[in-house]
Amino acid sequence: MLVINGKLITWEQPNQVMEGQALLIRDGLIAEVGPQAELIARHPDIDRLDAHGQYVMPGNICAHTHFYGAYARGLAIPGPAPKDFPEILEKLWWPLDRALRMEDVRASAEVMLVDAIKHGTTTLIDHHASPNAVKGSLDTIAEAVERSGLRAVLCYEVTDRNGRDGARAGIEENVRFIQSKMTNRRSRIAATFGLHASLTLTEETLEACREAVPQDVGFHIHVAEHEVDEYDSLAKTGMRVVDRLHRHGILGPRTIVAHAIHVDARESELLAESGTWVTHQPRSNMNNGVGVAQVESLMRLGVPVCLGTDGFSHTMWEEWKTAYLLHKVWNRDPRRMNGMDVVAMGVYNNAALAGQFFPGNPLGVITPGAQADLIFVDYHPHTPLTAGNVPWHIVFGFHESMVTTTMVAGKVLMRDRELLTLDEEDITARARQQAPGVWERYNAQF
Ligand SMILES: [Zn+2]
Repeated sequence: MLVINGKLITWEQPNQVMEGQALLIRDGLIAEVGPQAELIARHPDIDRLDAHGQYVMPGNICAHTHFYGAYARGLAIPGPAPKDFPEILEKLWWPLDRALRMEDVRASAEVMLVDAIKHGTTTLIDHHASPNAVKGSLDTIAEAVERSGLRAVLCYEVTDRNGRDGARAGIEENVRFIQSKMTNRRSRIAATFGLHASLTLTEETLEACREAVPQDVGFHIHVAEHEVDEYDSLAKTGMRVVDRLHRHGILGPRTIVAHAIHVDARESELLAESGTWVTHQPRSNMNNGVGVAQVESLMRLGVPVCLGTDGFSHTMWEEWKTAYLLHKVWNRDPRRMNGMDVVAMGVYNNAALAGQFFPGNPLGVITPGAQADLIFVDYHPHTPLTAGNVPWHIVFGFHESMVTTTMVAGKVLMRDRELLTLDEEDITARARQQAPGVWERYNAQF
């Protein structure tokens, strides 16, 4: 296939904005980037996908999300409003994930995948929990991802909050799913080992996870999202959370730590020294009132910080905008969180992280040999858009509703806003039909 009449934003390093260039897509990859007339002359009979002057750029990557959170939308939390993050966990997330049956796991994933395709997010790193439907839940999600055509990294959040058997079931689900994914390296679905958070994990369970994890596989865990995670760890072990995880061999260049808001200086160093990935979710952090991760400092220390949505709508540019604005107001300094820092997280670090799970061909960049994961953006700026000022066009001008076409591995998943792999109407109707049941099971726990 030839992608023609697009203005390319390549996200190479350094970034390039190019006009008059076409893309030759073959076997799921960008085979060639070259002058359009020349590529058309050499491939006169090949299918063409006309971008009609839109921007063509790599699809967005979400470094941390929860598909299972879909049924939280519009849900009324009974009683007084939660006053802090521990209460949000106890009153919202834990009863909600216990209310999910397997069909709700499927519906949540489908709803989120529709949302991702429409908003131009082509790779998602999910963190799943459904304590009353553990076994096979990752396969259920994987089936939905498979049908959607998107790319995803899946895991199950192991936790001790549902007893020993619950923890064991989570470990087994991770191991089983990881092993099933290890055989097919060309798959669009990869696996990692999920852990909920230090505050819901005993020493015994952490040890069991370390023993169970297959070689060369890392972990995906929430860390220091609220102070309670640190104080719980100190009370249980005398160590802060990152020290504790380090002692258990959980950190490393294949491990993802979500949030890292309340880590101290030594914990930050440990994250840097071990090459652990940190993901930043500013919208979620603001919503939960948990504080602001010092991600500029972490990046200065050499920690690769990525950007995720934590299950908010898969609108990555919304997350960019929030990051861009939040650090300015938090520090009362408009020089903080430069647009290039947002790009470092949202583009380059996210692509490098995703690349760990899909090795071989680069992700998140337009260059020969890269995965053909692309979006078309119907944006027509009234000022010059250059390789250097793209971040500010995105922060102040782009909206995810401008995404008209989404492609993953050379396959078009949405063309001119028409979804080609998933039936949105059907998926939404089914999810809505199941919602009263989920909410009823949620409310029955109070
Ligand atoms: Zn999360």
